Amino acid sequence: MLAGELALAGVAIEVIERQAVPSGQSRGGGINPRTSEVLAMRGLLDAANQRAVRRESAGGHFAGLPVPLDARPWRTRHPNGVLLPQDQLEEVLEDHLRARGVRVRRGTDLVGLACDDAGVEVTVSGGRGESVLWGSYLVACDGGHSTVRKLIGMDFPGRAGTLAAVSADVELAAMSTTVPRSVSHISTLTRTGGGYWMLMHPLEEAGESTGLYRVVFGGPEQETLPRQAPVTANEVIRALTAVHGAETKLKTLRWGSRFSDATRQVSAYRCGRILFGGDAAHVHSPIGGQGVNLGIQDAMNLGWKLAAHIQDRAPDGLLDSYHTERHPVGARVLAMTRAQTVLMSPPPEADDVRALREIIITLARLPDANRYLAGLMSGLDLRYDFGDSDPLVGARMVDLSLETEDGLTTVSTLLRSGHGVLLQLGGPASYPTPTPDGVDRVIARVVDSPVGVALGASPGADRVLIRPDGYVCWAGAGPDSSPASALHRWFGRPAGPGRSVGSGGDEGAVP
Ligand SMILES: Cc1cc2nc3c(=O)[nH]c(=O)nc-3n(C[C@H](O)[C@H](O)[C@H](O)COP(=O)(O)OP(=O)(O)OC[C@H]3O[C@@H](n4cnc5c(N)ncnc54)[C@H](O)[C@@H]3O)c2cc1C
Repeated sequence: MLAGELALAGVAIEVIERQAVPSGQSRGGGINPRTSEVLAMRGLLDAANQRAVRRESAGGHFAGLPVPLDARPWRTRHPNGVLLPQDQLEEVLEDHLRARGVRVRRGTDLVGLACDDAGVEVTVSGGRGESVLWGSYLVACDGGHSTVRKLIGMDFPGRAGTLAAVSADVELAAMSTTVPRSVSHISTLTRTGGGYWMLMHPLEEAGESTGLYRVVFGGPEQETLPRQAPVTANEVIRALTAVHGAETKLKTLRWGSRFSDATRQVSAYRCGRILFGGDAAHVHSPIGGQGVNLGIQDAMNLGWKLAAHIQDRAPDGLLDSYHTERHPVGARVLAMTRAQTVLMSPPPEADDVRALREIIITLARLPDANRYLAGLMSGLDLRYDFGDSDPLVGARMVDLSLETEDGLTTVSTLLRSGHGVLLQLGGPASYPTPTPDGVDRVIARVVDSPVGVALGASPGADRVLIRPDGYVCWAGAGPDSSPASALHRWFGRPAGPGRSVGSGGDEGAVP
């Protein structure tokens, strides 16, 4: 995702990947509503949807509790998220990258690095032995066991795992009636038996009695096995039999992996010319399916900032704002997964945990609490602190339907260029505002939209400045308000009238 963002901005990049071929492992099970919006902003959501596993409109969840979370009050076009196995998502992103002329250097292992004031030199090992690559910046997206983190001695504070579980893709030869035939709310996909808990759902349309499934389970056996022990077919059969009975039969174990709820986060997302994103920056329990989403949204935050920095057009402090903005978001997800782990902790029949669960279930049914949890779990409630009390500023821009001189469009379509957008809704023909390179000025009228017709929280606002990652960084009402300082803060010095899309035309106007 990050490589795609940098390529979109015209930055020359190299992507190094240890695996010679894609893993084909489902791992992350899907993307949440905010990530759906993010992919729509880059024109990638259709490709993701085409590969998605069909599911019933089920709503999100908190700690697997039997209360569907309704994200619609957050005014999103994608309230249900997308059930998309991670390998499929990775293919969508790699196709996108290929279309931009960037090839992933597969089978290439980063084994050493040296950094000075001018750049970063990395030693890579591949089919033809070792070689050296040089870049002005290095972004470590090399996963929870990050080589880069270890090579530079970056600390990774947190705690070790408290549980041991297995995630696997399996083909079933036969299944009992208790095996879910379709994907609905997570609470209907989870079952316990014989000391095990198990979450399973089909990865494709299930036939009458067979199918490809993702299973996630834990039990006494998993607690005793070492992390590196390979997941075996017999281990999966024992868990399946305990939870779904002997009539549920394994045909093939495609792959299996162990995971825990180890929870850690690097203390700095930037260390000079080296930055961290995704699991290299944070690991946590997979409960709630946050890992993939967090990583994609890290990339969306970092991409345009790093591009501006490399292209020497970034205002002071822009690149450092990656840490300032994303570290608290990562910390919040870590806290949220910890809280859910407590609520789901074995033994599930423990009276005090059950009492706590009952209270949370009751609360989650209250509309305000449901909205709160839906916002938290979907990533839609995120509001960065830009030091502005206007509730719109720092929040995501709702994907309104718009009409410009060029015709009908949406906010997400306007953002596909990877530019910032100074969007004027109503008011005089055009407010005169010179914009820096990389900011499009758009004059539009909001048309009836499935996500509402008004800007939302900010009364009277008729102009917003939207960053390339889709967050509002300024809102103004009327001709006396000026985005000049926000443009300067986020995009640097105004270089001219900027590119104008569907505007009434105030080219060259000076404030
Ligand atoms: C069993 C399991 C189940 C999970 N379930 C979910 C889920 O349901 N929902 C969810 O959102 N998340 C889930 N996750 C987490 C999710 O898979 C991760 O959050 C996600 O993969 C992070 O993406 P990433 O790109 O940051 O890191 P990774 O996907 O780990 O990618 C890092 C890449 O870097 C490469 N690499 C590593 N070291 C080097 C090196 N030295 N040189 C070159 N390349 C290198 C690796 O080969 C790898 O391809 C699960 C994870 C596991 C293990």
